[in-house]
Amino acid sequence: MKYISSRNKNYALESHQAIIRGLAEDGGLFTPASYPDALRPEDILGKDYRGIAETVLKAMLADYTEEEIRHCVNSAYDTKFDTDEIVPLTALKDGWLMELWHGPTSAFKDLALTILPHLLTTAYAKEDRHDVVSILTATSGDTGKAALSGFADVPNTAITVFYPEIGVSAVQKRQMNTSKGNNVEVIAVKGNFDDCQRMVKEACSSKEVLDACTGVTISSANSINAGRLIPQIVYYFHAYAKLVSEKKIAWGDPVNFAVPTGNFGDILAGWLAKKIGLPVGKLLCASNTNNVLTDFLNTGTYSLDRTFHTTMSPSMDILISSNLERLLFLLTGQDDEKIREWMRQLKEEGSYTVDDAVFRQLQDEFAGIWTSEEECAEVIHDTWSNEHVLIDPHTAVALSAMRKYRKESGDETPCVVLSTASPYKFCHDVLECISGRNIPDDFEAMEVLHELTSVPVPANLRDLKTQPVRFTRSIEIRDGMHVIAERMRSLSHVQD
Ligand SMILES: *Cc1c(COP(=O)(O)O)cnc(C)c1O
Repeated sequence: MKYISSRNKNYALESHQAIIRGLAEDGGLFTPASYPDALRPEDILGKDYRGIAETVLKAMLADYTEEEIRHCVNSAYDTKFDTDEIVPLTALKDGWLMELWHGPTSAFKDLALTILPHLLTTAYAKEDRHDVVSILTATSGDTGKAALSGFADVPNTAITVFYPEIGVSAVQKRQMNTSKGNNVEVIAVKGNFDDCQRMVKEACSSKEVLDACTGVTISSANSINAGRLIPQIVYYFHAYAKLVSEKKIAWGDPVNFAVPTGNFGDILAGWLAKKIGLPVGKLLCASNTNNVLTDFLNTGTYSLDRTFHTTMSPSMDILISSNLERLLFLLTGQDDEKIREWMRQLKEEGSYTVDDAVFRQLQDEFAGIWTSEEECAEVIHDTWSNEHVLIDPHTAVALSAMRKYRKESGDETPCVVLSTASPYKFCHDVLECISGRNIPDDFEAMEVLHELTSVPVPANLRDLKTQPVRFTRSIEIRDGMHVIAERMRSLSHVQD
């Protein structure tokens, strides 16, 4: 099973090579060229998270041996998570929350970024390579810390994270700027997430940067890396299996998933789960005020002609959803020419419109729903006061999408809502939503929120306030390639 570039289907790599490469040199994203045989209930049921992870990863990363996969899985999903279940399900009156924030940095990115370094170092060993892999990562807040934590002091790797100076929460900023490890660097950018992402993508083909890369290979920990995407398939199977074992459903019954969406990685993993045998009904693509995907799914036109908003769910403040390209590539039957043309139009004209065949498939499998800031606040408030469950703004956007979709469509299929971050990552906003109290200092708000709710604060967040800040650098967008080239040169010297 090969992985091929979404902009040139003849460019095919084994999965471990695609994981090293990150983004294809032609700007395309490595995408599974075919699907393995559908997984059967007996492959999944009765297994714990690690067991299901082994099964799914073996199917999708066929060039890794069974032992290699088991090593990666056991190294990732261990006591770094604060529950042995890894991803627990919490029942609400009208659905379930899939809690993806029990890992070392309290966001769903941990599920992929605890395993990616192991997949990558295993890939390196398979290739017998010894150069330094330099991980460049753009973050809207959560990927950064999860990647810094996953790659800290991993041999033969270095990681640089770029985050938008304005937009990430105070807790997220502190999480990144206090990161440990001798191979890590954190840089604020005077721009938004899209600027950071563009910078990282550009670096992969920039002459200035590549000339500086003696003995250094650039890769990515963003969800443009196939090694991020594939491990995210696992928790869809895990949640479904849990519902079967609790007799809430029988294997084969459709389940909808409501996914708070930014770069389209998480929801694409759900779609891939369906492709390899999970009985998924609709995938609800939940957006905040940056509702470019809602419009796209409802009209077939993706248009950047809109205002960028900063919201209380900053990890979804994205206008260019990279992983959508993978979906379109697969829905067009791997029509790389069409993808190149649509991506050219997006870049040069600011919009593209998919053809009717693709639009029909999108309408059939997805529903796009967006939620305003006021509605999001109301959902956080009501979920606390009615059900005593404290949720973060991203989760609230998805829960709201589930309810709006049910009301509009009448589709009563059981629904799992992906809960993607601990509410304590967004203390100021969550506190204000549930109590009306406005405490601008996030760490003070954290204490008050804890006193008010008695919901435990994850250890990694509780200790943040006293950690020393190591990184304070901030750069202009236009200096990006120069800064990256300089970093690559310093890594080259380590090699000498
Ligand atoms: C990254 C993130 C998302 C969006 O996930 P994508 O894969 O980018 O669509 C949603 N919620 C939280 C808390 C996140 O960190």
